[in-house]
Amino acid sequence: MTEVTFHNTLSRKAEPIVPTKGNVVGMYCCGPTVYAQAHIGNFRTFLNQDVMRRVLQVAGYKVIHVRNLTDVDDKTIARSIEEGKPLTEFTEYWTDVFHKDCGRFNMLPPQIEPKATAHIQEQIEMIEQLIERGHAYASEDGSVYFRVSSFENYGKLSRIKERQLLTDSEEVEAEESGPVDSDEYTRDSAADFVMWKSRKPTDGDVYWDSPWGEGRPGWHLECSAMAMKYLGNNLDIHSGGVDLTFPHHENEIAQSECSCGQHKQFFKYWIHAAHLLVDNAKMSKSLNNFYTVDDIEAKGYAPVTLRYALTSGHYRQTINFNSDSLVAAQSALVKLRKFSDEILAEAGLKRAAVLKEIQKGKHLHDDWGPFADAWNKLSHDMNIPGALGGIFTATKSKPGAAAVVPFHKLIFALGYDLEQVVIEKPKVDAPEEIKAIAQKRWEAKQAKDWGAADALRDELAAAGWKALDRKDGFDLEQI
Ligand code: AMP
Ligand code: ZN
Repeated sequence: MTEVTFHNTLSRKAEPIVPTKGNVVGMYCCGPTVYAQAHIGNFRTFLNQDVMRRVLQVAGYKVIHVRNLTDVDDKTIARSIEEGKPLTEFTEYWTDVFHKDCGRFNMLPPQIEPKATAHIQEQIEMIEQLIERGHAYASEDGSVYFRVSSFENYGKLSRIKERQLLTDSEEVEAEESGPVDSDEYTRDSAADFVMWKSRKPTDGDVYWDSPWGEGRPGWHLECSAMAMKYLGNNLDIHSGGVDLTFPHHENEIAQSECSCGQHKQFFKYWIHAAHLLVDNAKMSKSLNNFYTVDDIEAKGYAPVTLRYALTSGHYRQTINFNSDSLVAAQSALVKLRKFSDEILAEAGLKRAAVLKEIQKGKHLHDDWGPFADAWNKLSHDMNIPGALGGIFTATKSKPGAAAVVPFHKLIFALGYDLEQVVIEKPKVDAPEEIKAIAQKRWEAKQAKDWGAADALRDELAAAGWKALDRKDGFDLEQI
């Protein structure tokens, strides 16, 4: 294993990742809310998490990747009612769209993808533990709140101050679910947050029974309960977009660390990705300033090009999305693809086979050669722009077949599907003698003289040409 460092929001420092257990890294990523197609801002975060996982794998760690699906909240309920569909049918449709988009981006599927609605019991149990330990209380209407003042470490992640907390929690709630319900003021302090929401008429038939009456879990609880269930022994990395730092992750820490009684640390490393902006504002559904992967494909760019554009800036710096970045991504990818084709041809190897070996960990200890600088950049706080600079410098030194493994280890870590990169072959008019051979081959084919046609095909190939048959003739292409 080689050292991998990441900037930890908890310590505000870059730290080497030291897993809780052996070489296994537990990695929990807050997943999508499945009520519409994820926009490319969401994908900036999900793609950076995909690279994070790949970098750890290339460094020799075994990663258990958990990414949840938020399939019950105000938005999923409201939209499914609007469309007259049962919640499950509605969220399954959008989950499917999400999975297809992840596939187009060549993202590795997480090993575990738990849904909030399939873990209601675990969430109820966590609330019961918190009430028992004096960290939560039920209000008159059957909602349950976390008592923020009961956890002295509240604010350790976002470093939010008490006074600020009161105003910020009001603002966040108003932004996410409209004005705060007047009956939510049955909580003891405005800073307390809801873990169980009592059933409201706007919830339609979406509710579960609980010791506090009918209702549904609050926004933050699912990640605490599911992370504990699936990664309880591997609480290493927890990650999301920077907007999740407060209140979502702060509240997850409070619930989880208080529920176990001993305040056992809930995840060692908190990694946050900066936002994708449009005209200097956060890309978001509520601002209606977003694009999807379909929108970008309709402009003629393959998902791999978008992947490059979304990840080639440092993950901790915001990037402003524009078409220039797509044009630059396309030309960079063409260079990478050509280099890959060249060295594979020299070594007599196939790209898919090499990548599969790398994924299986066969080349963990191979030398990085001229790509050492690129790997050094990538493995230190995932400096993708630095790594790309290192790759382009190394390719200029014409390293030949020896570059196959180190170069493709980096391509694997960055997750570029080079098969998606189209290299336009310059159109060259064939010389007259080649046209004549091709014409004879065409005539032989028409006469069903297959032996002669094959011999003429080989003659063309030996001269570096290939005939592509149409219904009524042929085109010539240089091999
Ligand atoms: P959501 O589906 O809204 O829960 O968001 C899924 C993920 O996308 C979360 O990790 C968010 O922090 C992240 N996210 C939302 N908007 C953006 C954006 N404009 N740029 C980068 N990440 C974002
Ligand atoms: Zn979460």
